[in-house]
Amino acid sequence: MAKHNCAICGAEVGLMSGQKLADGNYICRKVCRKKTMKFFDCIPATLGDVTAHIAQAEKGTRIWNELLLPLKKSKDKAEKLVQLGKGDLYVSPSTGLVALVETRYKFIVFGKSEVVCVYRLADLVQYDYEEETVKNSEGKEEKKPYCVMMFKDTAGLYGFRLEVRSQKDYESMAKYFDTLFGIQRTLGNSFNNAKRQLDAIKGAASIVKGAVNGTMDEQQAAQAAGAIGDYFMGDRTEWIKKADAALAPYNQ
Ligand SMILES: [Zn+2]
Repeated sequence: MAKHNCAICGAEVGLMSGQKLADGNYICRKVCRKKTMKFFDCIPATLGDVTAHIAQAEKGTRIWNELLLPLKKSKDKAEKLVQLGKGDLYVSPSTGLVALVETRYKFIVFGKSEVVCVYRLADLVQYDYEEETVKNSEGKEEKKPYCVMMFKDTAGLYGFRLEVRSQKDYESMAKYFDTLFGIQRTLGNSFNNAKRQLDAIKGAASIVKGAVNGTMDEQQAAQAAGAIGDYFMGDRTEWIKKADAALAPYNQ
């Protein structure tokens, strides 16, 4: 393979030391790829996606260390973070923020470091159940449960699959979010609205994509936003207020 240069730091990369992106650019694995989270897939990403994600993770890690980590240790119940999934996701009801945490263990020196993306809880538009059939170490088929999460108006990592312990674990998590947003899902309601819900999900996905790519058709976006607003979002005014107050020092 011909030699290439990392599009971010300029280092020379080869077959093993470089990661090819969807737009034909390369980034180096040694430094720049390590700045992205394991939840972020570089293969379908453009250089713009990668740099947006790296900026997001740097900012998120700072917010985590300065603002959220102290709350994690807080003895005050109202301030405490709520840990979800297998422990990668934290909700901070007192600040209206959500943190996706990747813990990296260092084997040579004992210790760990964390890389974090921080989101506004108010931007969470999707939290759906998904399971994948995988073969375990004994060759037996096993179902792996996930929660697919999507945040609107977010550059970088805006959607990811969070591993959960079980479908039950997912259900209590979804219920927790529904309660935070004041969304009522009765059984009849969910059957009657199955199609609308599907449309809303598709709308959410296209809004997120369109917003990121800048290709969003205005009317289509307004329509999709309406569908989400009606069915999905509940009332998020208070969550927006809290998050924006908490993020104000970081958005200057
Ligand atoms: Zn590099």
